[in-house]
Amino acid sequence: MKLRIGPNGVHLFDRISGLNVLLDELRPKEAVWSTSPRQVSIALTNVCDLHCKYCYAPKHKASLRGDQVLAWLKELDAEGCLGIGFGGGEPTLHPDFVDICKWVADETRLAVTFTTHGHRLTPQLVKRLKGSIHFARISVDGVGRTYEQQRGKQFTSLLRGMESIATLSPFGINVVVNERTVIELDAISELAQKVGASELLLLPQQETTTVANMDKVVGRALKDWVSNYCGKIRLAVSEAGASGLPTCDPFPDERGLQAYAHIDASGMLRTSSYSAIGENIGGAGVLAALNRLRNTFEIKRETQS
Ligand code: SF4
Repeated sequence: MKLRIGPNGVHLFDRISGLNVLLDELRPKEAVWSTSPRQVSIALTNVCDLHCKYCYAPKHKASLRGDQVLAWLKELDAEGCLGIGFGGGEPTLHPDFVDICKWVADETRLAVTFTTHGHRLTPQLVKRLKGSIHFARISVDGVGRTYEQQRGKQFTSLLRGMESIATLSPFGINVVVNERTVIELDAISELAQKVGASELLLLPQQETTTVANMDKVVGRALKDWVSNYCGKIRLAVSEAGASGLPTCDPFPDERGLQAYAHIDASGMLRTSSYSAIGENIGGAGVLAALNRLRNTFEIKRETQS
């Protein structure tokens, strides 16, 4: 099992089974805490063949090189990062996607996960990825016609994608929660159970140039749904949309860049994919960029107080 040390104790993680054990009786000194974020997401490319209105991915063309990504992930792995989530854009459109996943799985102890719209998951691609992916996520914003209106793709094609992903690795379903999808959460959770998903990740809609944040009415409906949920699939929620929901956080003291960071397809390190503030990783490496980003936020905090 991989070990990570932080303010809430000693964290053991097994990427094959997904088992997490937190020894919270131990409270190691800050000097020995792992310096990497616990989880990092990487947008391998901005390219995508869909045009969802609520997409937050930048629209300029950018992609990361596989050797760059591997070097950064080796640094993060050595400093206690537990998992990497590839996204985009659509990560399967990166020409080296399969190789990158394989390199990271073989040359680091990180859990390799990715998020996909699912329409390119052919049996051939799944066969090439097998053994290099520890968890996968597929976006399911509504069922039937709602999905087709939200994503502009046939629902039957998504169902084929879900069948494929189920043969690849344990997987979860992501749903952007807005006024169209909130009323379909029962149907989505039933679908998740039917196709063998192990997690339903709720992503309350965030503002982009074309859509607004999830409004209060939808927020109340989401809260009611979560409070009354009796389904068998584990629920999770994005940090940005968790406010007001009954969540359980086993790492309450591991905050901000200790918990999570995002690298965009231009090689900028950010606190999240929505953050406007970033540090170019460049040749000095990702840990150096992490320190610079921490300093930026430190200075910002001091000037505000
Ligand atoms: S599938 Fe994802 S990356 Fe592509 S347009 Fe939709 S939200 Fe954006």
